[in-house]
Parts: sequence; structure tokens; C-alpha cells
Amino acid sequence: MGGPADLLVDAFTESALVEALAAVRAANCPWTVLGGGSNLVVASGGFAGVAIRYRDDRIQIQEGSVQAGSGASLQDLVDATIRAGLQGLHTMTRIPGWVGGAIYGNAGAYGHSIHEFVESVRFVDGVAIRSLSRDECDFAYRESRFKREKSWIILSAQLRLPPGDPEALRQEATRIQQIRDAKYPPTMRCAGSIFKNLLLRDLPASLADSLPPSKIIEGKVPSAYFLELAGAKGLKRGGIQVADYHANLLYNTGGGTAEDLRILTQTLKQRVLEQSGIHLEEEVQCLGFGSYTGVG
Ligand SMILES: Cc1cc2nc3c(=O)[nH]c(=O)nc-3n(C[C@H](O)[C@H](O)[C@H](O)COP(=O)(O)OP(=O)(O)OC[C@H]3O[C@@H](n4cnc5c(N)ncnc54)[C@H](O)[C@@H]3O)c2cc1C
Repeated sequence: MGGPADLLVDAFTESALVEALAAVRAANCPWTVLGGGSNLVVASGGFAGVAIRYRDDRIQIQEGSVQAGSGASLQDLVDATIRAGLQGLHTMTRIPGWVGGAIYGNAGAYGHSIHEFVESVRFVDGVAIRSLSRDECDFAYRESRFKREKSWIILSAQLRLPPGDPEALRQEATRIQQIRDAKYPPTMRCAGSIFKNLLLRDLPASLADSLPPSKIIEGKVPSAYFLELAGAKGLKRGGIQVADYHANLLYNTGGGTAEDLRILTQTLKQRVLEQSGIHLEEEVQCLGFGSYTGVG
């Protein structure tokens, strides 16, 4: 789904990346950075500019200290830490994408988010290479400072993980993998959850008090709960459909366009606003929609 960029640049070293950025700036071209593309919806017309990927996929582990290039697949990092007997990232098994994308969106699942283990993040601020400590990254639920600073490119992350038993970690990862594969069958064309879940503390007190306790999980309320109340399950726009078993899962049944997805997303947001007074926020990132104003 979605169209191409004018140019795709793969940089494998920091110096190549800095050089590419200088050339793009000199040519006055719009540019963006991609990771594995698993959380990205690109308009059918594509992106009129340069898409840059940083491909350093090295993972180095020494005792509890882990250094990962932002171009490493998150699953490779998860597997490497399990083999090294380090715990925490094992719950993120089967989250697609790369380490840079995971830091950008503070990816997480089953009780852990990546920020818990971050010591520092190295990045290019558009010109120079810099580093931020975890606190300086402003991590929050599916949020980081990198989401605000669109000209920053994450190069690598320094993590620290506590020790764990590799066999027990593998068993837990396999259990999570089985649950996830049932929810997101590997052949399903989707971007994971479309909307962020809601933090209980951000909800109006009257609404929070009326929620069934079973819907509050680790201080969050699944947006699927509000979507389901708004009749989202099974809704369709073109080739894009809301799963009939999960209201926060939209997938392409075949021939669906990025515009169908955007319009269905807007329709769902409007329905939830009218039904529950809640503003849902997209977790997926959008690219190339320019002056898009579609509302279903
Ligand atoms: C089936 C499925 C299940 C999913 N389950 C989960 C889940 O359980 N938990 C979860 O958190 N997410 C989940 N996701 C969403 C997605 O996998 C994560 O958000 C992932 O971390 C995105 O990484 P990516 O490399 O694919 O990023 P991309 O999709 O390539 O990019 C996403 C954003 O990150 C930015 N970005 C990427 N790399 C860099 C970089 N090096 N520097 C600066 N910015 C960068 C891009 O500009 C873009 O805005 C799921 C997705 C799918 C398809």
C-alpha cells in the first residue's frame, strides 16, 4: 500500500549518513527517515523527496550492556538478549521493525517498553552527531523526543538489561509469540494497532469511574474498548476492514489504499468522539498526505 519516494538512500556508516544529509540539504530536498516501515502509512502518491534509512545493524553485548545499531531488526535484538541471558526485551518478541523505529515510538508489549532499558541514544541532529541520556529522551507511552524532532536520525542505542534465565525467557517469548501470531497472523497486511491506548489518568474522572475494572490494564484502557462501543468491529472502507475480533486492528483485505485507511481511521475517531467523548490518537505515522483533509 502507498507509493514510492523519489529517491531511497541507504547509509551503512555514520559518515555516509552525514554526507547524504549534507547533499540532501544542499539540494534543498524534502527528506524523511524510515526504519522497517512497519508503522508507516504512505500516501498512494508516495513521498516527493528523499527517504533515508540508516542500516547499521550491529548488536554488541557485554554482560548487561547492549549496544544496538538503529538498523538492527528489533527481533534480532530480542533474540540476542535472550541468548545472552538478559531479560526485559523478551516480551517484545514479534514486534516488527528496527531498533531506531522502536526507540522513536518507545515500542513495547506485555508489560515492558524499550525505554526502561535505554541508557543513552546516539543520533544526528541534521548536522552533528550527539547523544541523549534516557531522561533527556522524554520517553512516555509510545512517545519520545524523537517524535517531535523530525530532523533527528537515531544511530544507535545503549541499553542495560538485568540478568535472566535464557530457557525461561525463551519459553515466555514463545508463549507471547503464539498469542501474537493468533492476533496478527503473519500473512495479515496490517500496521499493528492503529490507535494508541488511553492512559487512565488522562480520562475524565466520571468516565474513568464508569469503566469495568477488567478494562484497565497496567494503568491503560485499550482504545479497542471505546472503538467496540462505537460499533467499529467489521466496518469497511474500500479494501480496508476493521477486524471482527479486534476493534483496534485494521487490515488490507486486498486492493485497499492508504486513503481508504485514512478515511476509515477518521470515521472511527469521529464515532468514538460522539459515543464516548474521547479523542483517539493514531499510533501509526503518516507520510506524503500533504494537505489531506478527508473525513469519512
Ligand atoms: C503486526 C504488527 C504488530 C505490532 N505490534 C506492536 C506492539 O505490540 N507494540 C508496539 O510498540 N508497536 C507495535 N507495532 C508497530 C511497529 O512495529 C513499531 O512501532 C516499530 O517499532 C516500528 O519500527 P519500524 O522500524 O518499522 O519504523 P517505521 O515504520 O519505519 O517508522 C516509524 C516512525 O519512526 C521513525 N523512524 C524510524 N527509524 C528512525 C530512526 N533511525 N531515526 C529517527 N526516526 C526513525 C520514522 O520516521 C517514522 O515516523 C506493530 C506493527 C505491526 C505491523
